[in-house]
Amino acid sequence: MIQITRKEQFATPTILAEKGSVLVEKMKAEYAAGVMQFEIDRTVYADANVKATLVKIQNYKCCYCEAKIGHIDDGDVEHFRPKKAYKQSEDDELHRPGYYWLSYDWDNLLLACTKCNGRNKENLFPIMETSVRASSHLMNVGDELPVFIHPVLENPELFITFDNNVPKPIDGNYRGRMTIKYLGLDRPLLNEDRGEKLDDLKLLFTMFALIPNTPPELKARAFKNLKKQFDTKTIETAEYAGMFRAFFKKYPISV
Ligand SMILES: [Zn+2]
Repeated sequence: MIQITRKEQFATPTILAEKGSVLVEKMKAEYAAGVMQFEIDRTVYADANVKATLVKIQNYKCCYCEAKIGHIDDGDVEHFRPKKAYKQSEDDELHRPGYYWLSYDWDNLLLACTKCNGRNKENLFPIMETSVRASSHLMNVGDELPVFIHPVLENPELFITFDNNVPKPIDGNYRGRMTIKYLGLDRPLLNEDRGEKLDDLKLLFTMFALIPNTPPELKARAFKNLKKQFDTKTIETAEYAGMFRAFFKKYPISV
């Protein structure tokens, strides 16, 4: 998980700004009339243009696990704050309504792979200090500190690092630990896929270090190759960049 940059060219998609805003105003009026469950229009928040924009912003990667989303149909538009109901903990009851007024909010929408989206999190959305929970649009979500790390608004690398291919919370921090657990960032298949990709890189390191009396020109070529791996695997667009960044931090390349 790394921080996602939303560049200026990717403004709020028109359908959210226009149709989405109208629908939110309607829900606000319904809330005032006592309604607690709302119709939320998937064709608006998961509109093809919204999804395509998210795909581009996120460099064809899941916002959480950083796996490449191969085809536009593979990912799901995910609400960071759940739109219909929330739970503070696994044992908690479902509280309705959820963050209905953020159903079409650009900052609340992310693209997740189907695995992360169909994850253990569901409606679980714990916050650090429950007394400031925004239970309606009349309250301010800015007062809340969500337990889960938001990959656009925060830098996940301050909370989560990797022990080889396995994500770990830095110094055991709570938010990192909970994010890993409930988003399933250490699920076996994901660890396996990351592990295979890291092994290829480790092999290069091993070859570089272990062959005795390597002629300088070969060493120079090996270094050049490692530098290329660093350049291509740690950039924002690279799959599992968070893991590769943590690896190169631990094993910096130097001649
Ligand atoms: Zn994912």
